[in-house]
Amino acid sequence: MIMFEDVNKEYFLTRRKSILALKNINFSINKGDFVSIVGPSGSGKSTLLALASLLDKQTSGEIWIDGTKTSQLKDSERTNLRFKLFGMIFQFASLTPGVPLLENVMLPLLLRGEKRQHLEARALSLLQTVGIKEDYTSHLPYQLSGGEQRRVAVARALLKRPEVLFADEPTSALDAVTAKEITNLFQRLNQQGTTIIMVTHDRQLAKEGTSLLEIKDGELLKT
Ligand code: ADP
Ligand code: ADP
Repeated sequence: MIMFEDVNKEYFLTRRKSILALKNINFSINKGDFVSIVGPSGSGKSTLLALASLLDKQTSGEIWIDGTKTSQLKDSERTNLRFKLFGMIFQFASLTPGVPLLENVMLPLLLRGEKRQHLEARALSLLQTVGIKEDYTSHLPYQLSGGEQRRVAVARALLKRPEVLFADEPTSALDAVTAKEITNLFQRLNQQGTTIIMVTHDRQLAKEGTSLLEIKDGELLKT
């Protein structure tokens, strides 16, 4: 599904200064895996997630997605591949301010030209799945707690039935009960066949995964 081959990522700070955030990374992720990416702050976890999800480009090396060499793709092709296969949940809820919850969940697909009447029933059912009460669906994001916003962001990421769900610290800043619910939801999704790749500081959550990528100073440790 996803394979990294000798991938490096260098961030250029000034003309002379740069940071090698990922060094010669090799790994592969298969369909149906539940992968946790762990490591200290600043070790390169978010960078790894950004490259694997095609949000950012490697400086060198190859990233294969579903048998496609991504280094040869045009930007529009990268965007299409990302949209077709991937759902994303970021550390800070990626909801659109000022847009009621139900519309928020549908927004990415509405913007791609899908019809509201084809999306609404599933959007409502996903909001229910993530534990958002039906009478909240016309609320605006700022009226929700951080945990509730995170749940809505999960529903939004799931609406298009992504093959791969990327999550950056999905349980950070959540109370233990909400964190556990999100963890259970991820497990159910994974059992239903969704590949999950997440960055987490949460050792307990990391243990739920089927494999672990441990990263330190931009290098992958053998685990
Ligand atoms: P983590 O997610 O493990 O905290 P990151 O991937 O965010 O680590 O960062 C890895 C390294 O790359 C850090 O030294 C960080 O400062 C640097 N870095 C991350 N993003 C950028 C950026 N956009 N520009 C410059 N340096 C960056
Ligand atoms: P509607 O479009 O149906 O009027 P709103 O999003 O404006 O929905 O409000 C939904 C519900 O949330 C209403 O009952 C409203 O009184 C309540 N509400 C509005 N603002 C806030 C707020 N800042 N915090 C909590 N509840 C709010």
